[in-house]
Amino acid sequence: MENKRIPVAVLGATGAVGQRFVQLLDRHPWFEVVALTGSDRAVGRPYAEACHWILPAPMPGWARGMGVLPTLPVSVSVPLAFSALPSGAALEAEPAYARAGCAVCSNASAFRGEPDVPLLLPEVNPDHTALVHRQRRERGFKGFIVTNPNCTSTGMTVVLKALQASFGVQRVFAVSLQALSGAGYPGVPALDILNNVIPYIPGEEEKVEQEPRKMLGALKQDAITLARLSISAQTNRVAVADGHTVCLSVEFESPPGDFGAIADVLASYTAPLVSRDLPSAPQPVMRVMDEPDRPQPRLDVHTGGGMTTVVGRLRPDPLFHLKLVVLSHNTIRGAAGASIYNAELLLKQGLF
Ligand code: NAP
Repeated sequence: MENKRIPVAVLGATGAVGQRFVQLLDRHPWFEVVALTGSDRAVGRPYAEACHWILPAPMPGWARGMGVLPTLPVSVSVPLAFSALPSGAALEAEPAYARAGCAVCSNASAFRGEPDVPLLLPEVNPDHTALVHRQRRERGFKGFIVTNPNCTSTGMTVVLKALQASFGVQRVFAVSLQALSGAGYPGVPALDILNNVIPYIPGEEEKVEQEPRKMLGALKQDAITLARLSISAQTNRVAVADGHTVCLSVEFESPPGDFGAIADVLASYTAPLVSRDLPSAPQPVMRVMDEPDRPQPRLDVHTGGGMTTVVGRLRPDPLFHLKLVVLSHNTIRGAAGASIYNAELLLKQGLF
């Protein structure tokens, strides 16, 4: 695999997540970007011209002169496509790619809730990829669509997975402080967000209340039974560049006798064997911080190359059992890095 890399496309390559794909796929050991697609605005222009690059590292040289292609499978024939499309565009483009035989690893919400579409975090539910067989059978796809969760659900689901396995989880109260890059580019106007907190992100609370239940659910035959836990979420946009912070209160089924055991459970959580050593696997899966004022996005968001979930402020909760703070990089672990990790797992499982 190291010698001959698999040609891949990035759909919606000029946006916030598309740029992360280009950055993270630069010198990827298994995948080589051969096509970048965009909206009508960008088609036909060199990527360096069509894309307003917002990442601190320079745009990779190979991407600069690549002409942006239309987002249609007729213009791009590859075995694997990473989608950073808005949901509306994904609704049409992703099935078209899957029909044409392509494995689509998507960030969009368009298909996340579908019963035959895996909503995947390799360190949480790698067995859910089995849904791909049902999807192919029922939809007549030669390829398939696999999704990664909403960026706010990502870190908290990794935490809840470890807690669920050890203590059972009944109820969760989640309050998010979400970074600006989560709104895409150009995203939220400066005059709306500077010196401000916006207590509304359309559709976000519904996603955070549903998506973890699918990922933490059990695969039985060809279907997922949603996990029985209930989640109440309040989501807020804050003036942070990258990194979603989520303050969680968690009620357990079987609370530990020794509160100190919780930190050990989180710090020692490892991905299932099949997902553990993939190129993008987070090392470690979770980092538990002891300092009373951490994690903080500016200081901690790049832990493990942006793939590690960082937790801190573990303390007893007077209403439920545990309070803690979770930080996750929204465009890396919560978006482009997530899709790439998913594709590595799917390839290892022989699904494309
Ligand atoms: P974005 O910055 O707005 O980028 C969207 C990309 O899609 C751009 O390249 C845009 O091109 C292109 N596009 C728009 N309409 C199109 C169309 N009709 N046909 C083809 N291409 C089209 O958004 P983003 O933040 O990167 O998000 C991309 C997807 O990932 C969304 O579904 C989002 O919900 C999801 N997601 C985002 C994050 C995050 O942290 N940002 C995390 C998880 C999931 P132009 O540059 O020409 O507009």
